[in-house]
Amino acid sequence: MGMKVAIIGAKGRMGQAMAAGVTATDDLELVAQLDVGDDITAETLNGAEVAIEFTKPYASLANVLAIIDAGVNPVVGTTGWTDEALAQVEEELATKPELGAVIAPNYALSAVLAMTFAQKAARYFDSAEVIELHHPNKVDAPSGTALTTAKHIAEARREAGLGAMPDATETDPDGARGANIDGVHVHAVRLKGLTAHEEIVFGNAGEQLTIRTDSFDRESFWPGVLLAVREVKNHPGLTFGLDKLMDL
Ligand code: NAP
Repeated sequence: MGMKVAIIGAKGRMGQAMAAGVTATDDLELVAQLDVGDDITAETLNGAEVAIEFTKPYASLANVLAIIDAGVNPVVGTTGWTDEALAQVEEELATKPELGAVIAPNYALSAVLAMTFAQKAARYFDSAEVIELHHPNKVDAPSGTALTTAKHIAEARREAGLGAMPDATETDPDGARGANIDGVHVHAVRLKGLTAHEEIVFGNAGEQLTIRTDSFDRESFWPGVLLAVREVKNHPGLTFGLDKLMDL
């Protein structure tokens, strides 16, 4: 039999998609599906080596601490992690040095790669802007991925000694230039029919580079989660961000 895996948040949209991924993978075995109201203990985790957790921001920390307490390696996709909450996970992991935990705000390989490539490209261009495009049911803007992308671009520009981007805009009463994140403009499109998309545009005199990522379906998160499920035991302590496991 293969590696035993539990799902926390099993009734949710991501939980169901992840359960389908585990079931379809020959060397994984789905041994527990827990949701709100179920205790997370060594017994209920039923011999799992890894627990995939996609629940709610207010519930995730307690779940992850319980998973670690039970001696199981968590792979976490729930968003909304604060530095304080991450520090609590690290403290808990220190009591079980053999365990690893992976927490990643984005498991889509294409999004992680786009962010990494954008960070690498940033120092070669005078101008850079981020356009994120999502379905109209999304409640927050800009997306966490766009925010992180913009911050990485700003950091790379600073390290390369680049100054402010060329922009002669003097009047913009309605905010047409978008959000200004650390000096990088971020534009959010909400359009029926879209899922989750991001475009990073770089400009120099006479040339442009566009990096674009499109997620069409929740199944796009499975290859990244699978990578984390396979790798988590080889990385004791906390790993934040899928890029750390991708040898980029
Ligand atoms: P969802 O459909 O609302 O699923 C969450 C599930 O967790 C629900 O069944 C919910 O039950 C359950 N739950 C709530 N509290 C719980 C608890 N204390 N213990 C166990 N289960 C609990 O949400 P989703 O669309 O699957 O998204 C889940 C999370 O993943 C969100 O934070 C989302 O932003 C994030 N996400 C991350 C990625 C990534 O790549 N990292 C990708 C997609 C989504 P109730 O409905 O009864 O509360």
